[in-house]
Amino acid sequence: MTSAGSSRGATATAERRVLISGAGVAGPALAYWLHRSGFAVTVVEKAHGPRDGGYPIDIRGTATEVARRMGILPRLREAHIDTRRCTFLNPDGSVLASVVPHAIAGSAEGQDVEVTRGDLATILYGVVRDDVELLFDDSVDTLDQSAQEVEVTFRSGEQRTFDLVFGADGMHSHTRRILFGPEERFHRYLGYCFAIFTMPNTFGLSREIMLWNSPGKTAALYAVGDDEVHAFLNFHRPEPPSDALRNPEAQRDLVATAFAGAGWKVPGMVDAMRDADDLFFDTAAQIRMPQWSKGRVALVGDAAYAPSFLTGQGTSLALVGAYMLASALAANRDHTTAFAAYEHGLREFVTMNQALVDNGAATLFPTTAQALEQRNARLRDLVTMPARTAPPAHSALTLPEFTPTP
Ligand SMILES: Cc1cc2nc3c(=O)[nH]c(=O)nc-3n(C[C@H](O)[C@H](O)[C@H](O)COP(=O)(O)OP(=O)(O)OC[C@H]3O[C@@H](n4cnc5c(N)ncnc54)[C@H](O)[C@@H]3O)c2cc1C
Repeated sequence: MTSAGSSRGATATAERRVLISGAGVAGPALAYWLHRSGFAVTVVEKAHGPRDGGYPIDIRGTATEVARRMGILPRLREAHIDTRRCTFLNPDGSVLASVVPHAIAGSAEGQDVEVTRGDLATILYGVVRDDVELLFDDSVDTLDQSAQEVEVTFRSGEQRTFDLVFGADGMHSHTRRILFGPEERFHRYLGYCFAIFTMPNTFGLSREIMLWNSPGKTAALYAVGDDEVHAFLNFHRPEPPSDALRNPEAQRDLVATAFAGAGWKVPGMVDAMRDADDLFFDTAAQIRMPQWSKGRVALVGDAAYAPSFLTGQGTSLALVGAYMLASALAANRDHTTAFAAYEHGLREFVTMNQALVDNGAATLFPTTAQALEQRNARLRDLVTMPARTAPPAHSALTLPEFTPTP
């Protein structure tokens, strides 16, 4: 087990000790706020260090207020990707429409932020690394909870006890599996599989998105800077490919088969995917649970309520969820009361944001020729129509003040 940035010394035994599994977005955000409340925080992450990679992510509405309260909003604004345009292409590669991105994303221009996932990971890591214990390259193996504490066995073999444990370990949460059972019970498959990777920017693109559609297939190139582009291949599939989820070679084959014979730049993208060392493959899905905690363990972020990339709200829900959980624990010393307050305060916001899924699917990923034609007709109109305004769901929650109990 490697450890970095531990500031915990002899006083740790007098403080409430908490373990957070996962150092993605929800994990470091929760660590930040719990440290502010006086908890002794340990974060365990299965990767070797903070993970970058992945598509640029959005921080919107209520989540920008969380970022402001964390003091990271100025750095996020500096890292903001000022995307100039999004160009939609026909199956033969000809231009269908070119629009400003917030016209289709429905974001609040000038207020919401879009950054690379790597920049967000670096910023979040920076605000916690000196204050919490970070254990990389390890993970929770078993959890054994009593009325007083949770005994944790790590994959490394080490055993430790904590007062509370939090699962911030993403869509395929191991904490959720230990606590509530198999993922299938809570996983709502939305009919798409996607692959994301970076490739050299040989296309001369700059701060723009090119999006190619044919029925049931979408390929996109997103140029953040000039050197490389984020490539995205998304395809409709009625049933989830359960066998491929843990097999990167099977994933590459699945994507290549789905896009065989496709036009535009797709053949070159499929070739680049074969060589990519940062491939991220998953299904478009949501996690829906009737309850987010059990005993002394609670879930946060994608582990509890992943909304799917079709909503663009995964990162925002993770930041807001971490804040709401920490503020409930700050206000209520009894964890049962705090977990109930967390669910009560957040569930409606989660439900509203998970419901945005249909807008994203209809605009970006039409599955039939008819749906594609209807989408294209809307896009042609969009060029002359006012842009979409941000959905109320993005800002539907008023955050409570963060007031730690003495
Ligand atoms: C590398 C990467 C790339 C991504 N790219 C995209 C993308 O392009 N588009 C998109 O829509 N979403 C993407 N996501 C998901 C997106 O980041 C989340 O939806 C959102 O940020 C919610 O954050 P989260 O902290 O709840 O989950 P995540 O950001 O997924 O973080 C979960 C963290 O837990 C860690 N973890 C998992 N299991 C364990 C375990 N057993 N023990 C310890 N640690 C564990 C993971 O390594 C990860 O660091 C990506 C996630 C990752 C990890």
